[in-house]
Amino acid sequence: MVIKYFNIINNMINTNKGLAQDRKLSNNAAHLTAGTLRGAGEDVIDYSREEAAVDIELLKKSRVVITGCGGFYEGAQMLVRCGVGEIIVIDPDVVDNTNLCRQGYLPRQVGMNKVDAMGECLKQINPAVKFKGYAVKLQDLTPEQEEEIFSTAAVAIFTTDSFAAQAYGNKIVLKYQIPAIWAGFGEASLFSEIFFYIPGVTPACFRCATSTRYEINEEFVAKHGKEYHASSAGNTIFHSALLDAQMGMLIMAILHNKVDGKSFSGWFGDYFDHNFIHTKVNPMGHKEGFDKTFAGVKDVFVFHSRWQHINREIPPKYPTPCPDCCGTDVAQ
Ligand SMILES: [Zn+2]
Repeated sequence: MVIKYFNIINNMINTNKGLAQDRKLSNNAAHLTAGTLRGAGEDVIDYSREEAAVDIELLKKSRVVITGCGGFYEGAQMLVRCGVGEIIVIDPDVVDNTNLCRQGYLPRQVGMNKVDAMGECLKQINPAVKFKGYAVKLQDLTPEQEEEIFSTAAVAIFTTDSFAAQAYGNKIVLKYQIPAIWAGFGEASLFSEIFFYIPGVTPACFRCATSTRYEINEEFVAKHGKEYHASSAGNTIFHSALLDAQMGMLIMAILHNKVDGKSFSGWFGDYFDHNFIHTKVNPMGHKEGFDKTFAGVKDVFVFHSRWQHINREIPPKYPTPCPDCCGTDVAQ
């Protein structure tokens, strides 16, 4: 692993976390929010301007599941505008005042479950979108809910500040064999990271690619008795929007990988199985890695990306196989 320390922050840490925690739902059972909305309205969006890029009917039939609806708030909106027909979000937090400068929530939504607030917004963009929100931690979904949500998901997105949730997501996508994306910022938001998994296409699972962070998290829990939550220092809504747009492009490419004739068609295959993307969002971001990649180039680069191929963790390079995927493509 190139990076030893990863801030899976996705721009959404509440500095006012205590307040949010107090207002959180206390029940452990997965709670379908009062604001649950199903697609019942009319889709009046004319998608003709994007038909060269995407298959509208495919998008309308696609379910995207988002765990953590803070930093990916803008991304969810973009998915709905683009034509994605079904969005499911899982997030136990409520909207607080610290979210207003970096996430798309409105002052009147402070105190609401984030999933409800997001549902309101998405239904305003397209009343026909199917939406469900679960105001619980990913790990607290019941097995039945987990299966209902993920077994038919087209893509799963993990953008939480909770490493435990990100790690649990890996087990889910391996189990149901669905494409997935994990994303966040590192090093005081000087650069961003996206790891993605496409069953049968990409070579490693999330745990293979981030095993050193599993160790760091385990050490933190052992030392402090609580889960590690990364800092969002230096993060603004512009950071979120940049990363969300990149993730949105990847989601489109994943959905269209086996569809011909669109600009998002055929991005991934035997010839291109890179699965870990770093993007410099500040000229000083992740300097060592980018300097190595662009050695000898005199221009100053920013907003550019470095795509890596991360292999599975299996012997002989590693002493033991990755505990989650065991060096295979399925959950262990
Ligand atoms: Zn693995």
